Amino acid sequence: MPHKILLLPGDGIGPEVMAEAKRLLAWLADRRGIAFETEEALIGGAAYEAEGVALSDASIARAKAADAVILAAVGGPQWDNLPFHLRPEAGLLAARKELELFANLRPAIVFEALIESSSLKPDVVRGLDIMIVRELTGGVYFGEPRGITDIGNGQRRGVNTQVYTTSEIHRVARVAFDLARVRQNRVCSVEKANVMESGRLWREEVAALHAKEYADVALSNMLADNCAMQLLRNPRQFDVIVTDNLFGDMLSDEASMLTGSLGMLPSASLGATDANGKRAALYEPIHGSAPDIAGRGIANPLAMILSVAMMLRYSFGHGEEADAIETAVQSVLNSGIRTGDIASPGHTPVGTKAMGEAVIAELDRLNA
Ligand code: NAD
Repeated sequence: MPHKILLLPGDGIGPEVMAEAKRLLAWLADRRGIAFETEEALIGGAAYEAEGVALSDASIARAKAADAVILAAVGGPQWDNLPFHLRPEAGLLAARKELELFANLRPAIVFEALIESSSLKPDVVRGLDIMIVRELTGGVYFGEPRGITDIGNGQRRGVNTQVYTTSEIHRVARVAFDLARVRQNRVCSVEKANVMESGRLWREEVAALHAKEYADVALSNMLADNCAMQLLRNPRQFDVIVTDNLFGDMLSDEASMLTGSLGMLPSASLGATDANGKRAALYEPIHGSAPDIAGRGIANPLAMILSVAMMLRYSFGHGEEADAIETAVQSVLNSGIRTGDIASPGHTPVGTKAMGEAVIAELDRLNA
């Protein structure tokens, strides 16, 4: 059975980097015999212009029917003044909500060839390989009550509610423990158990699940403020970090900057596994639509290419091909081929297509 994939190119550099994902899928079909059935749909500003909404019901239905979704990027200044529910980002939020993607996986890996791009010293980040698992559909961004109320005397009150249940904590912790088992077998669970009840519950429930099902994995706990500090002081102490929506939002951005290069970082968002063993999943680079360089064919496609590798590993069990893609990216960087965003002084950068072709050439060499 072919793997059914929905491609959402989106806006700005989205279609440019998606073209390199398609090149890679064609190579995998042709040279590794992995069959894909791909469809394309609009999302973001492109969808708003053509369909009046950032993600149509028809596109949501196609995303649900697919085995995996690959999204490039959404957004652009021309849509900045639209009401919130019509903005390009609303398409992204709708996809997450409709597919119930509760676990966001963000690897932060430092490639040796790019070690100078990090704002930290090479000795601190050399060999860094962290996976942050962020809870994505609960917590303070969704909790009720919420809102701004007038409380008289010229005063207003803003409220958001941090709330988690046992099952919400267990399902995301399970993803983290399962990942740790195929990595370095260590999970650090991060919250503020010292000042927040929801944090105390998080810590207790992660510990309970650990004792019951994952005693073979090393579990530690850390307060979120300490984690923010430790990520800068000694980031290599971490293997898998699991945390809530709010802390995960910040800590994953912080960790991504340790690597110094936005155009290099992939991500995966996973939902629950259904009765047929199918798990909803969306793969996307962490960068946005980069309107400042859109249409010029110079965007770095590696974050997108590495997102395809994550899809092969987490949705389709093709770990060997995922490893090959990551090795190919590493070799291309080692050989000095760079797009503008990661180019070192004195080197002529290549464009999006040439970078995609360089990865394919390296895959051909590895596959020979
Ligand atoms: P951005 O990630 O689009 O760009 C930040 C900077 O990084 C820019 O200078 C850009 O040129 C550069 N950059 C990003 N990706 C690159 C790549 N692959 N190759 C080379 N350079 C790259 O973030 P921004 O400028 O804050 O936002 C631009 C638009 O993207 C906004 O509308 C924003 O809402 C949207 N956005 C979307 C997503 C998403 O689709 N998931 C994420 C972040 C921002």
